[in-house]
Amino acid sequence: MSKTLIVLNAGSSSIKFVVFDVTEGKPVNMATGQVEGLGASVSRFTAKDGEGQSLGEKDFDKASGAISTHTQAVDLILKWIDDTFPGTEVVAVGHRVVHGGVRFTKPVQINDDVVAALEELTPLAPLHQPHNVAGIRAAQAAFPGVPQVAVFDTSFHRGHPFVNDTFAIPREYYNEGVRRYGFHGVSYEYVTRRLKQIAPLDAEGRVVIAHLGNGASMCAVRYGHSIASTMGFSALDGLPMGTRCGNLDAGVLLYLLDQKGLSSSEIREILYSKSGLLGLSGISQDMRELEASDKREAREAIDYFVFRVRREVGALSAALDGLDAMVFCGGIGENSWRVRERVLQGMQWIGIDLDEEANHRNARLISSPLSRVRVYIVRTNEGLMIAEHTLTVLGLAAPEIQAFSADGTAAQRPSA
Ligand code: AMP
Repeated sequence: MSKTLIVLNAGSSSIKFVVFDVTEGKPVNMATGQVEGLGASVSRFTAKDGEGQSLGEKDFDKASGAISTHTQAVDLILKWIDDTFPGTEVVAVGHRVVHGGVRFTKPVQINDDVVAALEELTPLAPLHQPHNVAGIRAAQAAFPGVPQVAVFDTSFHRGHPFVNDTFAIPREYYNEGVRRYGFHGVSYEYVTRRLKQIAPLDAEGRVVIAHLGNGASMCAVRYGHSIASTMGFSALDGLPMGTRCGNLDAGVLLYLLDQKGLSSSEIREILYSKSGLLGLSGISQDMRELEASDKREAREAIDYFVFRVRREVGALSAALDGLDAMVFCGGIGENSWRVRERVLQGMQWIGIDLDEEANHRNARLISSPLSRVRVYIVRTNEGLMIAEHTLTVLGLAAPEIQAFSADGTAAQRPSA
């Protein structure tokens, strides 16, 4: 009987999943999918195989049995796995959890104490953490007795020095947990490990990673460890995103509160859902649509996005005392040659010389031979990272993955 591991990423209105065959102790992608529209009038199930070919899709409405809870969604996923891969045993479930606070500096096997601790962190991530916990509870009910592991978006950044961990507000807030946690850590860890395989010398140096997707942030990595991130206390800080504002003068919040009389929930809605590329363009949160548009507002939204990324290349390089390599990942970072070209244009002063032709074809190395700083594109794979951590925590990983997780230097891993 083959062995299967499931990775779950539970959000407010969707659950994403990846199914891995782990019979040999190395995760091999069998399927990726999601249930979207939880609680909406129509929910949608979709799944693709490891090559991106559709394995099925189905809409659910009141007539066909609405999907309104995480429990129903996880049950649906479980049934689909049973039907699609008969004769397989689910041996573990790995969960992406947005916030590990100061306690969870690495992945952890889930038990009642861990779930209680994750719930206590809800005030630090009220929009995400409750859904992550709901996903964990739903999976515990659907897979009784199957070990589950939580992998955190904050863990990779927990080694930040104090100056990159704090805000300059009264210290009591720092002590109660108001810190610069940083997010997208699962992606940064994966990319850092992948860079060790692609370019081991660069991976040992000073690296700026730009995770540019619908959510976007950048991270400064020295000797394989995060020392600074553009994201802070929440996933709002730093770069502008699809609908999130990015860096914002706190005085703007006071203005919205005091002068405009907006409530905290109205402000939350603006900052999380109506800002960023969407807010600036008034057209779309989607970079592809903005690149295709000839409207001035679309161009200005991209201009702002590019400007902020360029600023952070400088800022994070200063935090690193220099720059040896840069990596782009995420939907925009991996696919938009235009954004990368504009970010890197005229960066010879910092040692970056772009190979335009390589950049056009989304090559792995996009800096020219003259460039002192190497620039790479790495396809991030958060699901695989979570699967490997889950196997390692449970002692089920093949020796090379165990070794990689232990010291981050093992050579061969399954390809992305
Ligand atoms: P992610 O959240 O990582 O899936 O990234 C989503 C973002 O990547 C959206 O803004 C997409 O428009 C953008 N994206 C994906 N493919 C491309 C492409 N070929 N060119 C420009 N942007 C892209």
